[in-house]
Amino acid sequence: MEYAALVEVYDRLAETQSTHGKVAIVAETLAETSHEDLPMVLRLLRGELFAPWDPAELGVSSSLASRAVQRATGVAAEDVEAGWRETGDLGSAAARAVERQVQQTLVSETLTVEGVYEELRSLAGYEGAGSEDRRVDTVAGLLADADPDEATYVVRTALGHLRLGVGRGTVRDAIAAAFLGGDPDEPGETPGADVEAVEHALQVTNDPGLVAQTAADSGRAGLADLDLEVGRPVEVMLAEKTDSVEAAVADALEASDTGAAGGSEGDGGSGDTPPAPLAEYKVDGFRAQVHFEAGASEGNDGSAGGGDGGDGSGGGTGPQLFTRRLEDVTAQFPDVVDAMAGFDADSYIVEGEVVAHDPETGEPLPFQQLSRRIKRKHDVARLVESVPVVIYLFDLLYLDGESLLERSLLERVDALEGRLTERTREVERMPSLRSRDPDRVRAFYEEALAAGHEGLMVKTADATYQPGKRVGYTRKVKPTMESLDLVVTRAKWSEGRRSNNLGRLYLACRDGDTFREVGRLSTGFTDEQLAELTARLEPHILEQDGRDVDLEPTEVLEVGYEGVQRSPEYDSGYALRFPRFEGFRDDFDTAGADSLDRVESLYESQTDT
Ligand code: AMP
Repeated sequence: MEYAALVEVYDRLAETQSTHGKVAIVAETLAETSHEDLPMVLRLLRGELFAPWDPAELGVSSSLASRAVQRATGVAAEDVEAGWRETGDLGSAAARAVERQVQQTLVSETLTVEGVYEELRSLAGYEGAGSEDRRVDTVAGLLADADPDEATYVVRTALGHLRLGVGRGTVRDAIAAAFLGGDPDEPGETPGADVEAVEHALQVTNDPGLVAQTAADSGRAGLADLDLEVGRPVEVMLAEKTDSVEAAVADALEASDTGAAGGSEGDGGSGDTPPAPLAEYKVDGFRAQVHFEAGASEGNDGSAGGGDGGDGSGGGTGPQLFTRRLEDVTAQFPDVVDAMAGFDADSYIVEGEVVAHDPETGEPLPFQQLSRRIKRKHDVARLVESVPVVIYLFDLLYLDGESLLERSLLERVDALEGRLTERTREVERMPSLRSRDPDRVRAFYEEALAAGHEGLMVKTADATYQPGKRVGYTRKVKPTMESLDLVVTRAKWSEGRRSNNLGRLYLACRDGDTFREVGRLSTGFTDEQLAELTARLEPHILEQDGRDVDLEPTEVLEVGYEGVQRSPEYDSGYALRFPRFEGFRDDFDTAGADSLDRVESLYESQTDT
């Protein structure tokens, strides 16, 4: 296929604003493309050269591309740069330079789509000394054969700046339109059925080329047969947001397919009762999908499969790690790769969250620390030491050659637990609790927060795995509001085990020179923190009546909560929902506490949304 034909399509796409119009152009192009060229053409239509999970990078910067234009055309650097500045696009500058070409190429060949694709892909393989120059040469070689229009797109593709608005949805709809063209007489036919079939196939394969070829060959039936494959990341299932633990539990039960829950082994779910939801810590790291197939080149235990550079040549490797955005980060996490040897299976796709933690305290570290590890390609061993990680496994999508997507969450998690034979410092099951009792789930939530995690995920126990969807089978609960700095004005001596301590602290915000109460605090502190709070507050007791004490306002605490509501119970007129101790504010006195105005505006802001 001549590159000029693709360039014409690019031009039409650039002139067309509507998504509808773009779908029609892409569909027409696909229908005319040969079977074997479909994967390549689909990539090029989006300006891509590799699969999303392929770590290959072309290494073409603007200055490198500019040098290639100069080399190919003989146009002076200042002129290329001037064109670039004027148009704001190096592709257009390249086109101008080609028009003005001062250097006659001896023999000019017709550019083909394959030629451009392969040459540009080859850039990723250049390494070491002289590689920069070879890149310039290769791009210049293509430009030497290009007419101005072709030069525009060669440069934009090399730079990764094609931007023709061909998104994933456009590709999906175009594949459906080009190859399926649903039969309205078919029973069960719905207008979106073709698109849904393509969507499902894209979710499990993430491979538009394969999906297009399959749709062309064997229609919807063929697409339905496409399934997970080790080494090809699946789009992850997403979570919905919920306001409170109580709502999350209620929603999780409601989303349950009770009818199908007959087999919900044990734990409450029988007859018409939906099975108890599964609550898990929500830990803050990055979501990793780990793929493994034994007998493939490297074998299970030991060293990082895949290795640096020489990426996925297919056929399988040792455990491979992909991010939620489908990038391959295997090389950056040799510790996780090693630890996965404790997962006993011949092949699997598991999901987990990789979290960094402080080597001294074991406390989870903020995501920024972890992102240093994701980005680091060299000297990985040192970061493995200084930023140790754990992978908390929470789902199993594929096991010993079989997809588990259609199995219930409980079955998947049972299988996961059965195969995690060796838990180490680096690999763990995500802490979980099965319960339909909101109070127990709330206590578990408090525990997650106290351990420094983000909150909870509450999952419907009999739900299947729905790649790429936010379908209501998983919901997240986390404190959403910014914390408040509040003053302790009253308290009550605790009973029982903690009776030496003041518990139940009344919290107040500032209102001019006085303080107005906004709620009571009884959770979020450890025994040590409570003892310390008592020691700090006791000298400031003004009056005591039974177990109730009035305090001189001295102590400012940082308090998390899940919302603000109107309440006649407190003299501020507001009450915090589920306040939670987050720390002492030793850095300022009561004048620095948050004001009633701020509480009011927080109340207003949440009712807006
Ligand atoms: P969010 O990014 O806030 O929408 O929350 C969803 C993300 O939470 C997922 O993509 C995971 O990366 C992460 N996560 C943390 N803990 C869990 C868990 N137990 N189950 C599922 N996802 C989790």
